[in-house]
Formats: sequence, C-alpha cells, structure tokens
Amino acid sequence: MSSSVHVVEMSAAERDRAFATCRELADEFRAVGPRHDAENSFPHEMARRVRELRLPGLNIPKRFGGWGGDIATTARCVELLAYGDPAITLGFNMHWGVVGFFRGMWSAEHQGRFFPGVAREGHLFDGAYSETRAGVMGLADTRAVPVEGGYRVSGKKSWGTLSLAADFHTFNATITDPDGELPTDHAARAAREVMLVCPATAKGVRIEKTWDALGMRASGTETVVFEDVFVPAADLVSSAFRPGLFANLEWQTLSFASIYLGLARRAFDETVAVIRKKHLGAVSEAADVKVSEQQLVQVGIGEMRVLIESAANTIEVAATRLNENRDLPEDPARRLGWLEIPKVVATENAIRVVDIGMRLVGGGAFRRGNVLEKLYRDARSGPFHPLTTDQLMQHLGRAELGIG
Ligand SMILES: Cc1cc2nc3c(=O)[nH]c(=O)nc-3n(C[C@H](O)[C@H](O)[C@H](O)COP(=O)(O)OP(=O)(O)OC[C@H]3O[C@@H](n4cnc5c(N)ncnc54)[C@H](O)[C@@H]3O)c2cc1C
Repeated sequence: MSSSVHVVEMSAAERDRAFATCRELADEFRAVGPRHDAENSFPHEMARRVRELRLPGLNIPKRFGGWGGDIATTARCVELLAYGDPAITLGFNMHWGVVGFFRGMWSAEHQGRFFPGVAREGHLFDGAYSETRAGVMGLADTRAVPVEGGYRVSGKKSWGTLSLAADFHTFNATITDPDGELPTDHAARAAREVMLVCPATAKGVRIEKTWDALGMRASGTETVVFEDVFVPAADLVSSAFRPGLFANLEWQTLSFASIYLGLARRAFDETVAVIRKKHLGAVSEAADVKVSEQQLVQVGIGEMRVLIESAANTIEVAATRLNENRDLPEDPARRLGWLEIPKVVATENAIRVVDIGMRLVGGGAFRRGNVLEKLYRDARSGPFHPLTTDQLMQHLGRAELGIG
C-alpha cells in the first residue's frame, strides 16, 4: 500500500455521472443476466458496452486519461452494477480490482505503459493468481524460466475471472533456476514469485473453458493456460508479487464486498415487492391472510435491513478512512485484517439476507428461474474470495494474540 494511491480526483458531479452510467448499465446486466446464468455463458455483449461507456478507465488516474475513481467511488459503482446482476459484475470487477492493485504495486513506468490503453482503448485486465493446488494463498507453481530477454512461462491458472474478455492476462509465476527447476529452499522460492503481464494474443496462451459452477456463472471464470509463452523482461511488472498484492488488497476486499452488498439489496427489494402484494386468501384460521401483516415476516424484513445496512456502513467507513488516510492500523498484518472485515461482513450477510428472503417469500423462491434462487446461488461464492472468511478469522486471531 502507498497512501498516495488513495486520492480523490473526481468532483461530486463526476461521481454522479459515474453512478448514473452504472445504474443504466445495471439495467442492461439485469436484462441479460438470467440468460447467461441459464446458458452458463459469458456476456461478451456487455464487455462491448463496458468499453463503449469507457468504464475500463473507471479507477485509472486522470493523468492517464481515466475517470480517476477513488476506492469509495469504485466500490459504489460496483454495488450499483451488482444490483443489476452480481455474476456479470464479478467478471468486470476483476478488472477494477486489479487496476487498484497496480496503482500501488506497479512502477510509474509500467502504469504509464499500460494505463492509457485502458482509459483510451478500453483494454481489460484479468488477475489470474490462483491455481488448482491451492488458491491465491499457494505460491505460484507456474514457472518463469529465465531466457535471453525475458522468461518462458508455463502453468495453469484455474480461476481466470474475465479471462475471455481480457486484453491482457496478469498473473503470478515463480522464477526458476536456469535449468527450469524451482528453488528447493522455501524462502528462496517465495522470494522469486513475481507478477507478469502478457497480451491475451501471445503465442502459447489459451483459455480452457472449464467454468461450470453453482453460481456466478456469467463471470467467465475460465482456466488460463500458459505453454512456453515468451514474456519480455520489461513485462515483469512486480518483483514482489505477494507483499505488493496484500498491501493493496483493499481494492478487492471493498469491491468484492460491494458486489455482495448490491446482491443483498436486490434480494431485499425483490422480497419486499412480493411480500407487499402477497395474500394467502382463505386459510383455516381466516378468510384471508395478508403476508405483510404477519409479525414473523415483519421481523424478517427488519433483520434483512439490519444485515444490509451494517454491511453498507462497514464498507463506507473503510473506504472513507482510506480516502482520508486516517484511523487505519499501521501494522501491515492488522491493516490487512481490518480492511478484510467489510468483505466478510458483506458476503456472510448477503447469504443470510437471501436465506431470509427465500423463507419469507415461500417455496416459489426455490423454483428455477426465480430471482432469489439465482441470488442464493451467486451469494454462496462470497466466502471463497481471498481472504476467505475462515482465513480472515484466523488472521485476525493471530494478530490479536501476537503470533507472527
Ligand atoms: C467465483 C470465483 C471467482 C474467482 N476468481 C478468481 C480470479 O479471477 N483470480 C484468482 O486468482 N482467484 C479467483 N478465485 C479463487 C479464489 O481466489 C480462491 O477461491 C481463494 O484464493 C481460496 O482458494 P481455494 O478456494 O482454492 O481454497 P484453498 O486455498 O485450497 O484452501 C483450502 C482450505 O485450506 C485453508 N487454507 C488456505 N491457505 C492456508 C494456509 N496458508 N494455512 C492453512 N490453511 C490454509 C483454507 O482456509 C481452506 O479451508 C475465484 C473464486 C471464486 C469462487
């Protein structure tokens, strides 16, 4: 993290324009999301719209031609989009999240090389940092063998969200010894994990269509395969992948949190819309029962609101403190833990919100095609985003107990 990353460049009017653009696009996400969910397909037509609206440059600093969105504005935009469709938003959020990382991780020279293309030509990045053996916590098994002028890269990234639309893949790899072997010493291996960038069109790069999941089906989380891909030395964009990533992880923790906040708000509105209208008609106790008059239902709606607003507040407080550079733990481990809390609150609360909504609406919410049925499935992916809920709890516990 560098504090200069958190700069507010947009005026109130510019922010309002970004929010209005995202509200309109959210309507388009909403219209196509259920079809892409049913067909397990990536919404390429929405990638075109994101580019037409110049949204790839949302959080690119103004000096490179971007909108200059700060973390609070970016998170709010993500929330608005996710209200339309969380799975499609998760796809594009990968780009905004990694751009946020790069603002803190990449040199001025690398930002100057790549960011104008994002802002002006709509280039999209993915962030393929996880492999099958272990998620993002696993050191890269992907190998970068030093050769003249750069590296020859081979490996497989099994979680390549947005990879089908990305113009550039960004990924972690471990620089091997000249003979192609990974260092046997653990510390030496960890010190050789770097971040590389390569064009999606580079020879030896391909996407394997492996994504078939419970939810977030339109996120296009496919497998990115590197087979002896040449990456020039100039495209090694960070020689300290892991410390750089975790020092800037707030760009994903707050934007992931915002996806699940938008999802929960949608679940709330859909639930209330049904409950307001629903009558059971004649039952054994009465000639008619209006569902909204049931105390249990009223309490449930209230609980959903509490869960949603507590997630919203924790995101807003964290984003505001980052923008104002105040009241954040100085110790990097505690800082990371503190900034992960909104992600855990928002993702776990979203699961709970959808669960309550389904019970209040009744069995119809269990049927395929019901909006709550889709939101239920999409919500289940929240705890897996790094740090996972369990990893955060342990991380916080260790920090509080002084265990390094
Ligand atoms: C919808 C979706 C999209 C995703 N998109 C991307 C993407 O675009 N890019 C990307 O890089 N990743 C992506 N991921 C992967 C995500 O980052 C991983 O799910 C996450 O890193 C956790 O990894 P894992 O689920 O494989 O679990 P693992 O890392 O295999 O963990 C398994 C178990 O071991 C525990 N554990 C993990 N590490 C440790 C440790 N060091 N010590 C002790 N216990 C440990 C975990 O808590 C868990 O209980 C995506 C995931 C989802 C669900």
